[in-house]
Amino acid sequence: MAGKTERNNSGAAARKKRIWIVAVLLLALFTGFLVYRRWYASQGIALDNDTSAEIQKNGAASSGQGGVENTLPEIDTSEWELVLVNKTHANTSDPTAVEIEGSELCFDERAVSELNAMLRDCAAAGHSTVVNLAFTPYSEAEYYFTRKAEELSSTGQATESSRQAAGQFVAQAGYNEHETGLAVDLTDSICKSYSEETLAEETLAWLTQHCAEYGFIQRYPLEKVNITGFYEPYHFRYVGTEAAQYIMKNGLCLEEFLKLYSE
Ligand SMILES: [Zn+2]
Repeated sequence: MAGKTERNNSGAAARKKRIWIVAVLLLALFTGFLVYRRWYASQGIALDNDTSAEIQKNGAASSGQGGVENTLPEIDTSEWELVLVNKTHANTSDPTAVEIEGSELCFDERAVSELNAMLRDCAAAGHSTVVNLAFTPYSEAEYYFTRKAEELSSTGQATESSRQAAGQFVAQAGYNEHETGLAVDLTDSICKSYSEETLAEETLAWLTQHCAEYGFIQRYPLEKVNITGFYEPYHFRYVGTEAAQYIMKNGLCLEEFLKLYSE
């Protein structure tokens, strides 16, 4: 009995020893894996689990401006057609404006043929439009602004506060893009007051889809109000074909586009 107990005891001790060896081996393997992983990461090599994150990071870096895909056109942003006029940039253009085909209103003579072609093709596609506002000299811009300020004033007289309020709807004279002679408001029919419904949905869709072919952009889309300060889906601005294609394709506004060249 005593001999059997001894054998049993020595057998249990051997099992214990084997368990210890396996545990130490597992611990060594796990530590080795951790060291290896840390070393690999320090070499800048992505491990399998990290690969997708790495690709996403690289993808975002190479596409640059939040999904902008095509190459930025090589153009001189100081050219006349890229003049920036907004609430903080006063108009500097003094264009020679000539009559638009079928209208008494005028447009910059350097781009009027593109505007005529766009309106002609839009009509040929079954969407007739009317140019409701085009080149607006300073004096006329001042008239529109003051009229709006009077409208918003309780006394009917433009006051400092009603002029400030008017600035939310109409650009102040000197800062009105229509003064460049490169902007038009297109409507379905001559209307006395503007709203986003002044253009039929199909007409607006055609213009949005094709305007860049003629060098025009939708200048004040809804999603850029925080930058431009205006929502006017009917307001189109000539910037030249290359810039227009890039702007419309990448869903930018003129401010965002010009900023790409100053970075
Ligand atoms: Zn306008």
